[in-house]
Amino acid sequence: MSEPEQAGTVVTSERADAERRGLMLVLSSPSGAGKSTIARQLLDQESNLTLSISVTTRARRTSEIDGVHYHFISRERFEQMRERGELLEWAEVHGNYYGTPRDPVEQALSRGGDVLFDIDIQGTFQLYDAVRPDVVSVFILPPSIAEMKSRLHRRAEDTPEVIRRRLQTAVGEMKHWSQYDYVIVNDDLQRAYDGARSILRAERLKRERSPAIGTFIEGMVEDLKRETGEA
Ligand code: 5GP
Repeated sequence: MSEPEQAGTVVTSERADAERRGLMLVLSSPSGAGKSTIARQLLDQESNLTLSISVTTRARRTSEIDGVHYHFISRERFEQMRERGELLEWAEVHGNYYGTPRDPVEQALSRGGDVLFDIDIQGTFQLYDAVRPDVVSVFILPPSIAEMKSRLHRRAEDTPEVIRRRLQTAVGEMKHWSQYDYVIVNDDLQRAYDGARSILRAERLKRERSPAIGTFIEGMVEDLKRETGEA
């Protein structure tokens, strides 16, 4: 039983909040479901949320910046990182390697910061195995396959062959929707974004993420007992 009135053990609401555990918000979706736009908006508009920047052996698209969208690295370097245990999870997608560097994530979480992941199903399941309680997973779906195809073509960043492969992969990925905590159908970007933001905000308030909240409440109960002469 703690003694909240003693110096050093008093837990204020600010401290209870500061001692919260960060969460890992995982967004997965087949290509062309609008996940990147939702991720960007969350990062722009939510404080205390940083993006986990993956390493990849895929070639950089013209719109991408090294160190911002990905760290583009060689296969040799990737294999070295994987063997040294420097990756929290990794996967091979469309013939390329992708992985999450461990250090930045662990640092952000230990500071109580939340981390956003744009990773595939294979990576999500690895995070489940490693740190399930910290993971909040969201699967984003396009409103229809026709819309998904047209988004991929509009983006005009991939060859028709790559688009065909992405659509093929989507078939396998969609089967796993029920293993995600939340599912969002992106038929309206604003509504889909609002959904993702609500998930983040509600998950932040979960009791398990505030280890100090128990001590804070015990302190209030002690105060109450004194007030009411029960102590
Ligand atoms: P893209 O090539 O379109 O950027 O990404 C292809 C797929 O790889 C997407 O489903 C994306 O979420 C996934 N991906 C990106 N980074 C990572 C990562 O670090 N780990 C895993 N497992 N998947 C990733």
